[in-house]
Amino acid sequence: MAPTDSATTPAAIAVEGLHKHFGNLEVLKGLDFEARHGEVISILGASGSGKSTFLRCLNLLELPSAGRLHVFGEEVRLKSTSNGLHIGDRKQLDRLRTQVAMVFQNFCLWQHMSVLDNLMEAPIHVQKRSRSEVRDEAEAMLVRVGLKERIKSYPAQLSGGQQQRAAIARALVMRPKALLFDEPTSALDPELVGEVLKVMRDLASEGRTMLIVTHEMAFARDVSNRILFLEQGRIAAQGSPKELFGGGANERFNKFISRFSEG
Ligand code: ADP
Ligand code: MG
Repeated sequence: MAPTDSATTPAAIAVEGLHKHFGNLEVLKGLDFEARHGEVISILGASGSGKSTFLRCLNLLELPSAGRLHVFGEEVRLKSTSNGLHIGDRKQLDRLRTQVAMVFQNFCLWQHMSVLDNLMEAPIHVQKRSRSEVRDEAEAMLVRVGLKERIKSYPAQLSGGQQQRAAIARALVMRPKALLFDEPTSALDPELVGEVLKVMRDLASEGRTMLIVTHEMAFARDVSNRILFLEQGRIAAQGSPKELFGGGANERFNKFISRFSEG
């Protein structure tokens, strides 16, 4: 499915002038960005360029220091004070957060819960949905990611690839409108990367809105509609994979990707 036409629908996620600093360290230096519905965007950049901070601002795990943020047509209400922005509307924040699910490098599954309970926790306790409905959906999601047999297992009994697939299923049970992935395969042994990328490819082909921080260059090139290259807290290049990987970005991007093609 192709991303929606920008003229007719509001962006899925949009930021204007997004700044984030931690004390004196300015990590995001004024980002302007829009993700359309159904768009798959890979975010590339060196370590420390601000990729994680950017994703964390988009699902409101971090509050921006300045700027505006729209999530599915709603502007996030932030209060401006002398020491930056603060939450303006807690209820809105909680609601928008459930629309933008995040998958982390280290899975972040609850170790003391079975896989099934990991999936059911937030839909029941945060979204207040019925247990039976959530259970059916959780089981269906586990079948989808190939973990039907591991429903009663605990995270420690699973491989890294299985844990990450469970974490993706957990995100999906929340029925999010967008999915954010922060280096979802970076903690995995090389032989387990493919099974996680396969699940992500399937999600992308369904037309889901996805933002993916990754160092998997072949995946980024094949699956994304757009590539965003962050450098020192700024968007230094963006465009289609064809444009960017075809050498049409800038020297620094070319240099960055050349590191991944060497042996
Ligand atoms: P990336 O994901 O691209 O590696 P990050 O967004 O994690 O980059 O970090 C960008 C910079 O912000 C780094 O210098 C990092 O040390 C700093 N940083 C990130 N989170 C915090 C924090 N909570 N407090 C202080 N500094 C932080
Ligand atoms: Mg990071």
